[in-house]
Amino acid sequence: MYTDRFRELLLENLDRTRDSGTFKRERVLTTRQGTRVGVSESGEVLNFCANNYLGLSGDQRLVDTACRILQERGFGLSSVRFICGTQDLHRELEGRISAFLSMEDTILYSSCFDANGGLFEPLLTDADAIISDQLNHASIIDGIRLCKAKRYRYAHADLDDLEEALITARGSRVKAVVTDGVFSMDGEIAPLPGICDLADKYGALLIVDESHATGFIGDTGRGSIEYHGVMDRVDIVTSTFGKALGGASGGFTSGPREVVEILRQRSRPYLFSNTLAPVIAGTTLAVIDMIESSSSERDRLRANQRMFRASIREAGFRIVEGDHPIVPVLFGHLPDDAALAQEFADRLLGKGIYAIGFFYPIVPRGESRIRVQLSAAHTSGQIKRCVQAFSEVGRELGVI
Ligand SMILES: *Cc1c(COP(=O)(O)O)cnc(C)c1O
Repeated sequence: MYTDRFRELLLENLDRTRDSGTFKRERVLTTRQGTRVGVSESGEVLNFCANNYLGLSGDQRLVDTACRILQERGFGLSSVRFICGTQDLHRELEGRISAFLSMEDTILYSSCFDANGGLFEPLLTDADAIISDQLNHASIIDGIRLCKAKRYRYAHADLDDLEEALITARGSRVKAVVTDGVFSMDGEIAPLPGICDLADKYGALLIVDESHATGFIGDTGRGSIEYHGVMDRVDIVTSTFGKALGGASGGFTSGPREVVEILRQRSRPYLFSNTLAPVIAGTTLAVIDMIESSSSERDRLRANQRMFRASIREAGFRIVEGDHPIVPVLFGHLPDDAALAQEFADRLLGKGIYAIGFFYPIVPRGESRIRVQLSAAHTSGQIKRCVQAFSEVGRELGVI
């Protein structure tokens, strides 16, 4: 029975969430995803907060491909993979990803959240240890929780702290180090060469989650592992189709043959959840074709990112320096930064620029920021309008 008591507990919980400033309201889009979107309350705005890095989410070529695959392969499969949910498209996609990442094998999931959620428990036992960056994605944290291995956390991107954890875990049978390849709050690329050196020194397995990197980081889009020249030193990669690769949904784990074989046998989100829709598997193959055959989206994205970084700096703003299309514009050095960042994001939206503000308590006091995400599909005119809006609001609020 849904009791009044329980209802009251939930309402109190929601009130606390609202009071603490962490209540999430969803904005409702009325159009395809893209650089220009319709939003229910604010009308048409320029979108600077999607993970649509290559601009493919609403791309007409992919929509056409998806329509063809829908016609051929139907809407759904109504099965898990091992009963009757595997089409040749799924196998082909697994093969293409393995080749793309120079890995032995790949297993698909409905999301990267599932890939990470189902990664650790089948492979590791209480005789083993997992050593995880403090700021790793929630799905990695949850995946580790589901596993009996001993858990160690190292301070974010701190190689000294990682080494200490590796020394503490010395007695464990297998030591697995896991990190995001790119951390989404700052667009910061993990210090993979140093992490690889430590993994080598202590004989640790290395797992990298490339969700904010696959398809666009590195010269050929193979991710932060390519950017840092460590493709042959990382053992297991997880990533998503839900960001740069068309943004529908789906994820995968790539790695040694036996690892993938064990996951197919024992990984619970794979065994007990429906297969990836054929239209996504087939259309993602077309995305990989595009990524492998042309660098034009990647080149435009890089040019856009550099243009935005240069112009916003020139306009007088502080940013987190880096080499990723996530560009945080910082307010932490200013008085009352949380209220300021919130007001700033609201006024930007009023000027038709949609970017997300992060302020206390989502980030610590003194670290408020507006996170701008560039896409290959942004035109230079749109980027100029964004910087112009930042400048206007910056002057209105006395920030610059
Ligand atoms: C977005 C993200 C995920 C989740 O990917 P989905 O496919 O959307 O479930 C996992 N890990 C990282 C690092 C991410 O950024």
